[in-house]
Amino acid sequence: MTLFNTLGRRMQSFEPLVPGTVGFYGCGPTVYNYAHIGNLRAYVLHDVLVRTLRRKGLKVTHVMNITDVGHLSGDNDNGDDKMVKTAEERGKSVLEIAEFYAQAFFQDLERLNIVKPDVVCKATEHIPDMIALIKRIEEKGYTYSAGGNLYFDIAKFPRYGELARLRLEDLKAGARTEVDEHKRNPQDFVLWFTKSKFENQALLWDSPWGVGYPGWHIECSAMSIKYLGETFDIHAGGIDHVPIHHTNEIAQSEAATGRHPWVQCWVHNEFLVLDKGKMSKSAGGFLTLQSLIDAGYSPLDYRYFLLTGHYRSQLQFSYQALESAKNARKSLMERIIERRSVPGDSPDKTRSYLDAFDRALDDDLATPRGLAELWGLIRDPVADLEGAFEMDRILGLNLRNEAERLRTSRKETESSEIRDEIERLIAKRTAAKQAKNFAEADAIRQSLKAQGILLEDRPDGTVWRRDKV
Ligand code: AMP
Ligand code: ZN
Repeated sequence: MTLFNTLGRRMQSFEPLVPGTVGFYGCGPTVYNYAHIGNLRAYVLHDVLVRTLRRKGLKVTHVMNITDVGHLSGDNDNGDDKMVKTAEERGKSVLEIAEFYAQAFFQDLERLNIVKPDVVCKATEHIPDMIALIKRIEEKGYTYSAGGNLYFDIAKFPRYGELARLRLEDLKAGARTEVDEHKRNPQDFVLWFTKSKFENQALLWDSPWGVGYPGWHIECSAMSIKYLGETFDIHAGGIDHVPIHHTNEIAQSEAATGRHPWVQCWVHNEFLVLDKGKMSKSAGGFLTLQSLIDAGYSPLDYRYFLLTGHYRSQLQFSYQALESAKNARKSLMERIIERRSVPGDSPDKTRSYLDAFDRALDDDLATPRGLAELWGLIRDPVADLEGAFEMDRILGLNLRNEAERLRTSRKETESSEIRDEIERLIAKRTAAKQAKNFAEADAIRQSLKAQGILLEDRPDGTVWRRDKV
């Protein structure tokens, strides 16, 4: 399988560090609001990646964090604390807010048919791991204290910015907004806050540097190392994480362990964009999965829409595009329920679609090509439908169950149509009898009987039952 590795910016053949197993970490949500549909693009990608690896027989450990502390609205230690701000606005505790939105997030994953990660870890439940890792970073001499906070000193880490291809000279020259006066370099970042502008920080822990709370980046280093080891295979997240969050994760982890590279392969998804531009949680006015459901779409329509784009290209969301995805999925389902699987009809033909499908997914997760192979198979009368269900182990469109569900609901509609027709004929017969047109009344009774429907005249009207045959 080849994957595009952001580290080095090239396609690489993926080889697990330990044959047969894969350690995978995908940055999870900050639970101060609902996930927007752009965030969900990232998690559908992680799901497709994990499913592809598993289909190859690899044993994947998928770890996802839940950020419930320490994430500021600017990734670079600037702005408000996202969790605290929402908690204050709602008059709730930070942990109540976190619990509520974490549950909403898991519901979104389920609705999108995303396989739940093997480990879901909350930042607030891993503070001792973070403190232990910060201590290792400190012992190796990569930190300094200033203004009550403990900072990572990027000048001590010459590889800083390798992932994002940042050049320190440029960084210094381009020093940005709201510079923290305590930072030696604008790109230095906080490992542990004690004194800061957030006097109102709700959650505080004791530490060797005083009572305070962790910076945002350290949680991903600490938790991924805890569950996957000091080096692991794949780390993923949105493209926005390349220059700061993931750059800082690498600096912390490699400084602490002395290992390089910490992560073999970095996978980043491009953004989902609206006509108006980037979608963001903090800017407000964003679309959630629920808002798509309320507009009459299935979460699987949205999943289908996401699969039509390659993860490394920007994807433009519009209701028009979602409508096309909905129609495409509808006609896909129609064809599946119309077709009866004819196993063994042409195993070679089926195999060739499946092989082409696997080649597409192995080629840096080319889901649009994968979908094309699915369509090819579905349209080919001699290919076996089982092949489509095999492909669906990766696509996650729930084809088998959705087809079953559609068939059942069709049957129900059919039988309610039949019932209406019987009632209509009974009414017609009653009217005929009242008009003393007994020949017609009898003809109706006979024709129903021929179809296995028996009538019984009772004082309060005519009832019907099916003849037991
Ligand atoms: P957050 O909850 O803000 O930490 O973001 C969760 C994930 O969604 C991260 O991997 C982000 O990089 C990713 N992300 C944020 N906005 C978008 C977007 N518009 N399109 C795709 N991914 C996004
Ligand atoms: Zn992260």
